[in-house]
Formats: sequence, C-alpha cells, structure tokens
Amino acid sequence: MSRVFNFSAGPAMMPLPVLKEIQAELLDYNGSGMSVMEMSHRSKVFQTIADEAEKDLRELMNIPDNYKVLFIQGGATLQFSMIPMNLCKNGVFDYIVTGAWSKKAATEAKKFGKVNIVATSQDKNFSYIPDCSDLPIDDDADYVYICENETIHGTTFKKLPNTKGKILVADQSSMFLSKPCNVKDYGMIYAGVQKNVGPAGLSIVIIREDLIRSDLPENTPVYLRYDTHSENGSMYNTPNCWAIYVCGKVFKYLKSLGGLEAMNKINEEKAAVLYDFLDKSKMFNGTVEKEYRSLMNVPFVTSSAESDAAVVAATKAAGFDNLKGHKSVGGLRASIYNAMPIEGVKALVDFLTKYEKENG
Ligand SMILES: *Cc1c(COP(=O)(O)O)cnc(C)c1O
Repeated sequence: MSRVFNFSAGPAMMPLPVLKEIQAELLDYNGSGMSVMEMSHRSKVFQTIADEAEKDLRELMNIPDNYKVLFIQGGATLQFSMIPMNLCKNGVFDYIVTGAWSKKAATEAKKFGKVNIVATSQDKNFSYIPDCSDLPIDDDADYVYICENETIHGTTFKKLPNTKGKILVADQSSMFLSKPCNVKDYGMIYAGVQKNVGPAGLSIVIIREDLIRSDLPENTPVYLRYDTHSENGSMYNTPNCWAIYVCGKVFKYLKSLGGLEAMNKINEEKAAVLYDFLDKSKMFNGTVEKEYRSLMNVPFVTSSAESDAAVVAATKAAGFDNLKGHKSVGGLRASIYNAMPIEGVKALVDFLTKYEKENG
C-alpha cells in the first residue's frame, strides 16, 4: 500500500485511523453480521450510529439545545436553494460575496426573492474579505449570508459580519470542525462534509429551531423543507447511511485528539509552515491578503501559467497529488484540511524549496 499526500479541495483526505477502523468493520459491523452499507436505516443498529454521530457532533461544537442538527443529501449546493425557500418571509436576502461559492449561492437565491449584495471583494478578484462592521443591511432582510471560508479563492472571515440583528447563515463547508465555533452567533450553519469531514453526498445543517417553519407555500417539495427533515430525525427517506457512519467515526476521532481547540492549534501550526515558505519564496506567491488567509485552502502562483503547470506535474510525480488550482483561478492550491498531517505540509515545502533552488 502506498498512499500519497492528497491536497485535493474535496473530496479530500480522510484520517488514516478512521479508514482503518472502517476497513476492519466493513464486512461485519459490530456483530450485526452485515456491513453498514447493507443495513436498514430503520434498524436499531443504524439508529444508534446516527444518534451517536449527532451526539458527538453536538459535543464537539457545543451545539445549544435549541438548534437542530439535520443530515440532508444533495450536497452543499442544494442548500443554496433550500435556504431562501425555507427562510423567506419578506423575500429580501442580503449576501456578502467573497468568492465563487457565495456568488453561486447568491445567484441561486435570486430565484426566490430580492438579493442585495451588501459587500463584495470581486474588485480584487476575491483576494480579501471586505470590512463587514457597518454594512447597508436591509431592514427587511430575512437573513445575511456568508461563505465563511472560500474554498477556491482561499479567504476566510476572521471576524463575523455585523448583521444588525438579522440572522446569519454561513456556508462552512471547507472549514467545518477546523476550529471552535460559537453556534449561537448563527441562525444556521451548514457544510457539505466531503471537504473536511467525510465522504461526499451529505450536508450537515445546524439550524435554530424557531427558523424551521411549517407555514411554507404548499407547493414546496417535501424533501426541500427543513421541517420534513427535522420532524423525521433526518430519516424522512433513506439517508446517506454510509456518510453518516463515516462522519460519526471522524467526530469520535476529533474528540480523541482534543476537540476543536486542539484542531485549531494543529491547523494554525500546519498552515504557518506553508505560508512562511510562501512569504519567503521568490518563485511562489500566495494570492490572498495576509489578514484573510484561509487555514484550509492555500492558493499560490508562480510567474506564469506554464511554470504553474510544470510545478503541478513535478509535485504529482513526487507523490503530492491534486495541487492544481481550480480551473476558474488557475495557479496552484494546497488544501490542508484536518486530515492532512503536518508531515505532508513539511514534505511539500521541502519539495518546493528544492524545486525553487533548481528552477528559480
Ligand atoms: C464544495 C463546496 C460547495 C459545494 O458542495 P457540493 O457538496 O459539491 O454541492 C459549496 N460551498 C463550499 C464552500 C464548498 O467548498
């Protein structure tokens, strides 16, 4: 067996101890005589898996009792429309657009009401987070929306926006469980799990109870209503059992490492290795203003697209996979989520240092 250091933005690396546990349980889960992927979602054994996953997540994030945890399929993308459909009262939605993902979410919300872009960093190719301390929040805004960590552009909010009393909705897909989070500051948090937690095909929604409404328009598709998922323990239909099981394993693993405070420390240390290198390098340059740099997604460039491509090819040949930047921005990007060991980042920096010496 030979595993590469996988810098993919998602689906992304999983912790090796978790993969091994899953492997050991693959054919016979806990004496049930079957694999979790063969199990009825209505069985007691699976219900226990789902209950424990929720309980461990609640512990990790310290989720208050008046917030529901929902496991929904359709990826983070489905939430782009479920949010305006379910939170619409006045039909006015305020979006802060800081990169590709918040832009997509805003575009989708336009189908359901009036979208105000109350701040954006598009003027400088999304390389920073705008000042959000005094925004023109609409009196009628049903919510204020952010993508807290922009996976493609590599920016992150160091301070949450002042929403002037409106509820905050945050896409945390690429930073979920990377650091402590004060859930009370949000009306709703959601994340597609395939970036920082588990296998693709599952989104976790953490939503304040009073925002889950039953008075939605009658023609709202049943699957797209939060009350459907909430009233049925996320099992209105067959959920993504496998992803819930694997995420549950990851929650236990994160707890064993010391929880989110510990993860934050590890992630800060890890990102510093790469950013320190980029700050010193003459050949490689980070593309994000220092203050707003993501701990999870690190985009960087050389002087030309050709030399970017040459570096990507050289890293791949040396066992560092998926460093090609997103097609919309080019360059390179190292995604260094929770599961990427610091050894992987150090090895990459050693490789790039040598590459610069030989080619710079
Ligand atoms: C990947 C990603 C998405 C889209 O996730 P899907 O599960 O593919 O729909 C949305 N938002 C952010 C921040 C992402 O990183």
